[in-house]
Amino acid sequence: MTRLMQLVASQTQLDALAPRTLAERAYLSLRHDVVCGKLVPGEKLRVEHLKDQYQVGAGTLREALSLLVSDALVTVEGQRGFRVAPISLADLEDVTNTRVMLETEALRQSIRHGDTQWEEALVNSYQLLTQTESNPSGPEPALWEQRNKHFHDTLISAFDSPWTKYILGILYRHAERYRNINWRLTAAHSSDRKVHDEHETIFQAAINRQEARAALALEAHVRLTHDIMKRQNASFAK
Ligand SMILES: [Zn+2]
Repeated sequence: MTRLMQLVASQTQLDALAPRTLAERAYLSLRHDVVCGKLVPGEKLRVEHLKDQYQVGAGTLREALSLLVSDALVTVEGQRGFRVAPISLADLEDVTNTRVMLETEALRQSIRHGDTQWEEALVNSYQLLTQTESNPSGPEPALWEQRNKHFHDTLISAFDSPWTKYILGILYRHAERYRNINWRLTAAHSSDRKVHDEHETIFQAAINRQEARAALALEAHVRLTHDIMKRQNASFAK
């Protein structure tokens, strides 16, 4: 797996693979700010302004922005420079469909090939996620995001395909960005969505090696963010 693939697959800034270069560090900080929505979709990214904010030189910042272009989180417009990638329902739909295609097949393969170590890792990641989701005052968003990603990564970890994991890493980041927007709009864990029940269904089916059932539950889970946002499409129809 290449260094870029590893970086893309890394989780939040906090537990990311230790960045080796200034450009990698700037990349992770910028990615975090794009995904959490601090850098707004469509916003122009001015190198002169950002280099002071992220405390790097212009060359390093451009290098970091180029990495974000390969994640499709930033767009480049010839001489006109960089922009945060825009969002749209059509894009979310495409992200969702592609993720469903790849992630459900990866889960089926992982269930087929997973050994007892995989089972242990899965139980462990599910327990951590359950702890966060049973917080009576609601899950802490950053911790939830980290444990949710860890759970999803563990589900497919017994499938030996670095390319699938790399592409899913990019798609997950886009889904996370849409979720962050959605979180503010609806509170993702409000009463009309029982996220923990969704995770429990996926977990039970996976650990009992019920491939088809697990794949269906995962599909429903991944599609729900899209469905909720579609219902509210007035909020970002532009
Ligand atoms: Zn999830």
